[in-house]
Amino acid sequence: MIGRILDGLRKTREALSERVGGLFSRTTEADDSDLEALEEALLLADVGLDTIRVLLDRLPREARVDGRGLRETLLKRMAALWPPSPPAEGPPPAPWVQLVVGVNGVGKTTTIGKIASQRVKKGQKGLLAAGDTFRAAAADQLEIWARRAGAGVVRQKEGADPAAVAYDAVQAAVSRGLDFVLVDTAGRLHVKHNLMEELAKIQRVCRRALPGAPHQVTLVLDATTGQNGLSQARLFTEKVGVTDLVLTKLDGTAKGGIALSIAAELGVPIRLVGVGERVEDLVPFDPEEYVRGLLA
Ligand code: GDP
Repeated sequence: MIGRILDGLRKTREALSERVGGLFSRTTEADDSDLEALEEALLLADVGLDTIRVLLDRLPREARVDGRGLRETLLKRMAALWPPSPPAEGPPPAPWVQLVVGVNGVGKTTTIGKIASQRVKKGQKGLLAAGDTFRAAAADQLEIWARRAGAGVVRQKEGADPAAVAYDAVQAAVSRGLDFVLVDTAGRLHVKHNLMEELAKIQRVCRRALPGAPHQVTLVLDATTGQNGLSQARLFTEKVGVTDLVLTKLDGTAKGGIALSIAAELGVPIRLVGVGERVEDLVPFDPEEYVRGLLA
């Protein structure tokens, strides 16, 4: 598992290093034009401007005062963008109901398949709920992942009420004593308002089937969409109470800096990172490995 984030960040790291690598190995103090170069490089890696300001504000001075050098001081500041994660509290409820949201194409279905497969490998039993009822292909895709993972699937015919699918799945998992339910959802952002209403309804209905559910509302974001992804994330976190994020396609992008902006601006933890299309290409997010992967 170790090193997957590092691998995934290769393109981002190379682009950064090409622009500012020399800066970090120099012994003279960075001046304004160096900071401009650093700002530009971080912008190209898709770290947002507000976050860059926080990272670079009086950076050379701090680097001089604590004698760590520019790179280490910047790494320390980057790592400090993440709040410490709270300790786990007792065993999780069963079935654990996880709603997975995000716009079309970001990797929701793939991520659900990967999570299901990891859970099944740990000996858990569960169901995948095909809550994207607008495209029959989406449910077919989910079914393929379910079969591959060794999980069950709950689906209804195309055009059915997504909340009804989620309800059925949660009820079935409760009555069969299963460990988890992963609910896939539609992601047609051009009908923003309706989509948010629909997600809120799915949440209400899950709660009705099992008090306390959904226990997790996971937003999937595509790292290659950069700052655009961040505005999507804002919309979802405001409207549907997102508890955590999965950042996908970190393997294919030079814009991996987006995770810094997510940490600084959303305050929602990134739990997992997608680094490829295969089942095993979903790894826990480690802020330390991430920032070192950016500026190695
Ligand atoms: P959905 O519409 O949000 O359910 O997205 P899908 O799960 O169908 O994924 C869309 C595409 O992204 C598929 O071709 C996936 O194989 C691909 N994909 C998903 N996650 C990753 C990832 O972490 N890395 C890469 N390279 N591709 C991914």
